[in-house]
Amino acid sequence: MSTRPASPLILATRSLGKLHELGPMLAAHGIETITLDDAGVAERPDEEEGLEHFATFEDNALAKARYFFERAGRRPTVADDSGLEVLALGRQPGVRTKRWSGRSDLSGRALDAANNAKMLSELKHIADRRARYVCVAAYIDHDGERVFRGESSGRILDAPRGTGGFGYDPLFLSDDLGVTFAEASREQKEQVSHRGRAFAQLAAWMSAPR
Ligand code: IMP
Repeated sequence: MSTRPASPLILATRSLGKLHELGPMLAAHGIETITLDDAGVAERPDEEEGLEHFATFEDNALAKARYFFERAGRRPTVADDSGLEVLALGRQPGVRTKRWSGRSDLSGRALDAANNAKMLSELKHIADRRARYVCVAAYIDHDGERVFRGESSGRILDAPRGTGGFGYDPLFLSDDLGVTFAEASREQKEQVSHRGRAFAQLAAWMSAPR
């Protein structure tokens, strides 16, 4: 017997960047997924923005997974909480990565640009550019909850490179790849990224006989 759910796994995120990575990644592991839109879970921005107010990626990922599990009729659901920790900034922005610029009026590419501009300005006179991405995937179904953590190390450049990926990817030079995540293909990024590593653990656990 395997833990793989009978119904498709709901990818509980509104981020197009995350969806673009997660759908193919899980499909490659033989796991069928659907988006929140496909599952008929209409967006409620005020409620959803307020979910991730905890101090750890684990607590935020679980809060999102629990919320969407209930809203999607208690079908198997996975949510991720992720962010960037910059050593010289005391591991900021961490769980505040998405809203670091303070621009609550922006979303998508415009928000990414504002966040990247803040990152460059904060690190302007700082030589130590070491950073890591963190991702925690929280899975929930009728039998309970599981969390999986992935990390990926690199450094923050002083100018963007590449057009792929999303978020801070053009500024993040991957230690594993030697190029930025925005210069890497989706498949290359997946092999070494925080999200790739967290979800590979989830996929292995879902596929394992119990
Ligand atoms: P949250 O998980 O919804 O709180 O958002 C995490 C934020 O971290 C995103 O909005 C991005 O700004 C950033 N982030 C997380 N993962 C990545 C990634 O793979 N590439 C670039 N930025 C990322």
